[in-house]
Amino acid sequence: MTLSGVPSSVACASSAPRAPYASDPADSRGRRYPEPPAPTRDDFQRDRDRIVHSSAFRRLVYKTQVFLNHEGDLFRTRLTHSLEVAQLGRSIARALRLNEDLVEAIALAHDLGHTPFGHTGQDALNDCMKGQGGFEHNLQSLRVVDALEHRYPSFDGLNLCFETREGILKHCSRANARRIDQAEPGGVARRFLDGTQPSLEAQLCNLADEIAYNAHDIDDGVRSGLLRIEQLSEVDLFERFRREALDECPQLRQQGRRLLYEAIRRMLSAQVYDVIAATRAALAAASPSDARAVRQAGPLVLFSAAMRAQSAQLKSFLYVNLYRHPQVEQNMARARQVVRELFEAYLEARRAMPPSYAQRADRARAVADYIAGMTDRYALREHEKLTGRAWTA
Ligand code: MG
Repeated sequence: MTLSGVPSSVACASSAPRAPYASDPADSRGRRYPEPPAPTRDDFQRDRDRIVHSSAFRRLVYKTQVFLNHEGDLFRTRLTHSLEVAQLGRSIARALRLNEDLVEAIALAHDLGHTPFGHTGQDALNDCMKGQGGFEHNLQSLRVVDALEHRYPSFDGLNLCFETREGILKHCSRANARRIDQAEPGGVARRFLDGTQPSLEAQLCNLADEIAYNAHDIDDGVRSGLLRIEQLSEVDLFERFRREALDECPQLRQQGRRLLYEAIRRMLSAQVYDVIAATRAALAAASPSDARAVRQAGPLVLFSAAMRAQSAQLKSFLYVNLYRHPQVEQNMARARQVVRELFEAYLEARRAMPPSYAQRADRARAVADYIAGMTDRYALREHEKLTGRAWTA
């Protein structure tokens, strides 16, 4: 370790050229509808900018991460979560000399397909769509950028590059992969059928997502009063850094929030350094010659075995103590009901939806697309309008 606590093995020059196995926009598999290049930006930078300017991106600010949007102004939303994933992703990408712009584009878009009310909304919509293809938020994120944004004169969607779209579709059921692959042979769903890997940038976004939510859910959990900092002593990863922070800064004993922030900050850094070191070792062992070779190797962006176990322990702690907390469950049960009743109401009264949804032939999917796009508060307003019942907090 160096004096500042940064392991020398993860240090890097910020202006180092990209690695040969990084994604290169010049080698992109391109866009579905060919477009002339932009004069001042490469294709991945352009994708990122299209995502930032999309309506779906702006809606993330009023979508639940864990806590419902109306529960407090300081809790993470899908938007702030996505920004944190982008920040962590870029930091790690820079150290690994990967393509930061592609990482940023994927990170900012990865949750565009999330329904209102977080995972509960998704599960409810999935139930509603049983027998009709179901509902998966990753696939919905791809639908948003491929079809549901209507901003360009000659195509639907944002017409993003293959590599960005591939990163957005981070999980996919086999049934859906088969369906997508039929419409787009050898395209973004192929890897779920033939077991190949996505780009290193896409792999990195998966891990940055996990690092981000593990850390910010501790913060939000304590802020909400549902978690106590003492309870977290059973989480090895957190406890190690809480103790370390207290040893180095004893004044934090009287400053609970600062202690929490300091422990989380150290925990985040440790995970970032761990990913960098473990990934460097994996890359050295596999020595992929270029971005193509990466796809044939196993997963290369990863935690060390020890950090993987610690992250899993933290995840299960959050699952039991926060995501399944009776207060969270109670809110989520009502959210489930709101989504279910909205779905039934729009199926009955299609004209209650805007014409672009009401006129579609795929009725149930149109309703699912419409509900999935809603913010929490819009869904509650619409629900009240359609059923006459208000959500009382
Ligand atoms: Mg996420």
